[in-house]
Amino acid sequence: MTLEAPLKQEIVRVCRMLHRKNYLAATDGNVSVRLGDRVLVTPSGVHKGLMEANQVITVDLTGRVLRGEGRPTSEIRMHLLAYELRPDVGAVVHAHLPYATACTLAGIDLLEPILPEVVITLGGIPTAPYATPGSAAVPEAIREFLREYDAILLSRHGAMTVGQDVMDAYNKMEKLEHTARVVLVARLQGPVSPLPAAEVETLRRIGEKYRAGG
Ligand SMILES: [Zn+2]
Repeated sequence: MTLEAPLKQEIVRVCRMLHRKNYLAATDGNVSVRLGDRVLVTPSGVHKGLMEANQVITVDLTGRVLRGEGRPTSEIRMHLLAYELRPDVGAVVHAHLPYATACTLAGIDLLEPILPEVVITLGGIPTAPYATPGSAAVPEAIREFLREYDAILLSRHGAMTVGQDVMDAYNKMEKLEHTARVVLVARLQGPVSPLPAAEVETLRRIGEKYRAGG
């Protein structure tokens, strides 16, 4: 219980940042943190700018509620899948990023290596095919991407990021939206060319060291 309290505060902090940055609207989006065989997760139907720590719900790794009032987010399946597939993942953030979601509507593929920093830190940003939000089709649509990537766009829906902790996952969300804004603005001026293949290789090698903690 004592371990949960600071993590709940971290979840609240990230929810407020997501709302302040317009990464979601009203009750959209959800955040979770894994603590051993438990998951602390945001509740369904609560405004993320106004949520309090005592509203965070504790579930087990199958999504069964252990503690808390109300229901966990309807999008909990993608969180549970991340913890199932990736023992390295300690937190998951899902938001409805406006610019990044616009990229999926406009058919802009952010997996293209355009910005060097994105190749280094995220490897790339794939777009998972459309699935009805909250349905069992969402984890199936992201499963293969989740094995390889920490930041995934969900077509016509938003984005999901995973990290060692909740700030790490949040930072990837911020990076993703920043990338989408840069690419969208650049494309208003004309075509955008990808980085040359040799440079992408160099950046990937740097990225492997970076992600290994170098
Ligand atoms: Zn959503």
